[in-house]
Amino acid sequence: MEAIEKIYDLFENGGDNAYFGEAVSQKEHALQSAYAAEQEGASDALIVAALLHDVGHLLHGGPEDMADHGIDDRHEVVGRAWLARHFGPEVSEPVRLHVDAKRYLCAVDKSYEAKLSPASVLSLKLQGGPMSPEEVAEFEKNPFAQDAVRLRHWDDIAKIVGLEVPELEHHRDRFPKLLKSAHASGEAQS
Ligand code: FE
Repeated sequence: MEAIEKIYDLFENGGDNAYFGEAVSQKEHALQSAYAAEQEGASDALIVAALLHDVGHLLHGGPEDMADHGIDDRHEVVGRAWLARHFGPEVSEPVRLHVDAKRYLCAVDKSYEAKLSPASVLSLKLQGGPMSPEEVAEFEKNPFAQDAVRLRHWDDIAKIVGLEVPELEHHRDRFPKLLKSAHASGEAQS
């Protein structure tokens, strides 16, 4: 339960920050991503992954314009590390891979890069640019690659100013059954 309170706390305390170079807040971006996942009939785990895909930004609390300063904050690594403590790989792995999924899509779909927002193009450069053919082959082997690509598409569209979507509370019931502590047998959780 502690993890759920932490999620609420992060959104309450950092959720109003601007979403890196975009016109929506972190919280609006997260809620729009989760709603897009829900609209496409995604599983609860993938909806939660969509909701929390940028939790690394909220956890590290760095300046919101880091990409403008040429810094890649590696938020997918920070986010994945925290999520993996509390949730299974069906939540944490799509989050870890959502930046790679952008690099993947830029490599396999030429029209994709053209549709990226300016902030996303800037961060792509910092993240290593489009994948090489070898990286593409490696990425496709990951069992969560397709979930990460779906998440990526929701991430890309979740930047609509003023779009009304359900609040965080709408998703509360999805968390408990996904928590490791819900099915751990005496395993210590931090
Ligand atoms: Fe995002």
